Amino acid sequence: MSLVVMKFGGTSVEDPAAIGRTAAIVAGRVALGKQPVVVVSAMAKVTDQLLRAAAAAAQGDRTGAMAISTRLRSRHRDTAAALIENSADSAALIELIDQKFDSLDEILRGLAAILELTPRISDLIVSYGERISSRIVAAAFRERGIDAVHVDAREIIVTDSQFQRAVPLDAVIDKRAQEKLLPLTSLGKVPVMGGFIASNEAGITTTIGRGGSDFTGALVGGALSAEAIEIWTDVDGIMTTDPRVCPDALRVKVISFEEAAELAYFGAKVLHPATILPAVKKNIPVLVLNSRNAACEGTRITSLAPHCKSPFKSIAVKKKLSIIDVVASRMLMTHGYMSEIFAIFDKHQCAVDMVSTSEVSVSLTVDSNEKLPAIAADLSKLADVKYEGRKALVCMVGEDIRGQSGMAAQVFSAIRHINVRMISQGASEINMSFMIDEDDADEAVRSLHAAFFKDPDPAIFDVEARKV
Ligand code: ASP
Ligand code: MG
Repeated sequence: MSLVVMKFGGTSVEDPAAIGRTAAIVAGRVALGKQPVVVVSAMAKVTDQLLRAAAAAAQGDRTGAMAISTRLRSRHRDTAAALIENSADSAALIELIDQKFDSLDEILRGLAAILELTPRISDLIVSYGERISSRIVAAAFRERGIDAVHVDAREIIVTDSQFQRAVPLDAVIDKRAQEKLLPLTSLGKVPVMGGFIASNEAGITTTIGRGGSDFTGALVGGALSAEAIEIWTDVDGIMTTDPRVCPDALRVKVISFEEAAELAYFGAKVLHPATILPAVKKNIPVLVLNSRNAACEGTRITSLAPHCKSPFKSIAVKKKLSIIDVVASRMLMTHGYMSEIFAIFDKHQCAVDMVSTSEVSVSLTVDSNEKLPAIAADLSKLADVKYEGRKALVCMVGEDIRGQSGMAAQVFSAIRHINVRMISQGASEINMSFMIDEDDADEAVRSLHAAFFKDPDPAIFDVEARKV
């Protein structure tokens, strides 16, 4: 059977019109004889708003928290009412939405009394976004003739107990997905479940990290050995760079898993990095598609990329980074010194992006975060420490930089007017990254794009778009 996992992001379910388009896309797949399993995000911006409500409640601002919740309740009710014409079905759905918001409000009120927001409560609160959006989408699908069944994602995606970024337990997920979803798809039904949300083995709600719905899609696709995983979003696919920064950006028609993973990690907003893994393991192609432009063929991510005449496939930028310089004149080469440095980052649960060392110093880059002063204080017990924010990492990705000599010279000559702070060429040999000031990032991207995508390979890039 040709099972496809179709994941729809927040903008693909943001309002009645978007959900209507999503239903039409799924109906189209069913008409082609495919068996979809649908994974949806919360409606656009809902997760952020739920987090704001939680933060307000935890600060004792009960009125503020309730105001956010009330707005969200109306938005979901209005969406349901606009989508479902049959009055009994519509009333039942709205009743269900009200029940969910009633329990959310109870939690928020409790939080406003206790004034302590734990990661576990935070996960419970944000889970309402996907729990409710998936109900609305399932009902809208049924109304439009799709034999949809809502499935609670928390019964399938089982994780450890690291709330807010819980780690999925693959073997349990494989088993649960097969047990709960295959009986439905084999009857021609279309399961609809929320992404991002999960539960630990004791059944307590967890989440798998912001943007985690792609990850859910890949986990389900992997568990069911799907024919493809479709990530429906609001852009035409992976682009050679951000079109808002560089209007000349082109769609990349096909890219390797490795390249896409590098890009995702370096901030290309299209995919969640970890998405790739469950799909790579099983060699399942991932398609990035646009729910506002369903006719566009998107980007196909495959295990082996066809050869490309241009060295790079895409340029990504990750902003809001900080650079930390640790300077210790005699210590650096001492046995165990680096591990002491990393132990400090580990203790603060802070991931390091890039590392470079010299005789006397180590420079590390991290996402700017509120833990930096504490990390710096710990590091200063070992050495002199300086840190600086507002940095950006530019990452150029392409399988074909492997073994090409003179590539670095070409890259740095294209941006010779920009001050480069740190350079790294990953061990993967498919990315070349460097750190610059955030204010220089857009200019650097435009210069690099102009230099490397002058004559793009039509087999890999959508050059037609540039002609029109
Ligand atoms: N709703 C979640 C978030 O905004 C998960 C997702 O959209 O993928 O992070
Ligand atoms: Mg997303």
